[in-house]
Amino acid sequence: MLKFYNTMTRKKEVFTPIEGDTVRMYSCGPTVYNYAHIGNLRTYIFMDLIRRTLKLAGYKIKGVMNITDVGHLMADSDDGEDKMVKASKEQKKTPYEIAKYYSDVFFDDLKKLNIETPEIISKATDHIEEMIAFVEELLKQGFAYETSDGIYFDIAKFPAYGCLSGKKREDQLAGARIEVNTEKHNPDDFAVWKKAEPGHIMQWPSPWGMGYPGWHIECSAMSQKYLGDYFDIHSGGVDHIPIHHENEIAQNEALTGTKSVNFWMHGEFMQVDGGKMSKSIGNVYTVSDLEARGYSALDFRFFCLNAHYRKKLNFTFDSMDAAKTARERLNNALLSHKESTAKTDPKIIEKYIKSFTAAIFDDINAPKALGILFEAIKEPKSKDIFDLAVYFDKIFGLSIASLEAVKEETNQDIPEDILELAQKRAQAKKERNWALADELRSTINSRGFTIVDTKEGYTITAN
Ligand code: AMP
Ligand code: ZN
Repeated sequence: MLKFYNTMTRKKEVFTPIEGDTVRMYSCGPTVYNYAHIGNLRTYIFMDLIRRTLKLAGYKIKGVMNITDVGHLMADSDDGEDKMVKASKEQKKTPYEIAKYYSDVFFDDLKKLNIETPEIISKATDHIEEMIAFVEELLKQGFAYETSDGIYFDIAKFPAYGCLSGKKREDQLAGARIEVNTEKHNPDDFAVWKKAEPGHIMQWPSPWGMGYPGWHIECSAMSQKYLGDYFDIHSGGVDHIPIHHENEIAQNEALTGTKSVNFWMHGEFMQVDGGKMSKSIGNVYTVSDLEARGYSALDFRFFCLNAHYRKKLNFTFDSMDAAKTARERLNNALLSHKESTAKTDPKIIEKYIKSFTAAIFDDINAPKALGILFEAIKEPKSKDIFDLAVYFDKIFGLSIASLEAVKEETNQDIPEDILELAQKRAQAKKERNWALADELRSTINSRGFTIVDTKEGYTITAN
């Protein structure tokens, strides 16, 4: 029985799709004004784990992830400049160039991390029409009002406002900031549409003049378009609970009068050295930063699998080293299982599959499931254990099956000195000494061998 923790009900609940065997799932995607950092990527690994768990349970998925390329202001509330516009000014490129560049890098990162791309990727700027229609409907039904600078959602018209985070209306009022926008009816009213100030780079015609959408309306309009008024799962990071997701709920449920999402699922934050990541501390790491320090993207995925998605995860280079070493140990053990011709009693295999499935179906307990894999590799060497690990990898996504190819090909009769040169080249690459790495590749070539880099390392073949 598959159970997920539901942020809305604050408990683990049995999950079944609303309709048939297809799960409709929406995941808040990146704002593409910068590189995704390891914290963001932890959240997308979490999204991927939900998807893989659903597939293991035999369900099909209709997944949507948005790409925010307009409307996300520096603060999640309505403060500050648009992130895309800010980046575009700083980098002297159009917002579309910025969006294209960072989206491409984002999808490369997903690929490296074995994160499956959701079935539908929806760009905010491709859905302006749907957003305007949504805002018009909110106005028509009296849930929104116009001010001199935009259209705002009136949270007093939606009494359930705050239901996801458990915020009470009195707390919202007590905690309200000194309001600069005196036209707002309530301090927490938020913009669903902003009127463009003169010279604003991204703007579209609307019934309220030129303007651009609020960030929250994007997810409401796009989830409704692709998944309907009521869908199975909505995922994102915990920071989205108090503002972004509350606002999405208010927008969608005000119009339909019914629940919009069955399961709200949130991934906890990643910290670095026990604190927040910040540009000023210089600890905002990307996948390329990790690669430059000799870690592969999959080492990072493995690192993330060691903590439950609802627990904070503290990133340090020491713990990353430990993860890398543990993964090497795992891979080496798996390769020796792979080579064995011995068998394992099917009852033992069955027992591992049972406890693995139970761990995953219990709100995706990946660390427990990894523990079961580490138990299994202690069994006497057998190809069955390798096959078991390949099965577990449907969830882990650590490219365990491809360990096979590397080992088989490197098993050929390659002379010791060539192997040594290849190792030196790998070391040079780790140290980003590209000149030396290239030189070593040429030497290997001139001795009649070709070296090809693979996901897991390299293979050498005789020419
Ligand atoms: P953004 O591009 O800022 O909208 O963030 C993309 C995703 O990353 C969102 O789902 C955030 O909740 C998530 N996120 C941001 N910072 C962190 C962090 N430190 N740890 C985990 N997830 C994060
Ligand atoms: Zn969103």
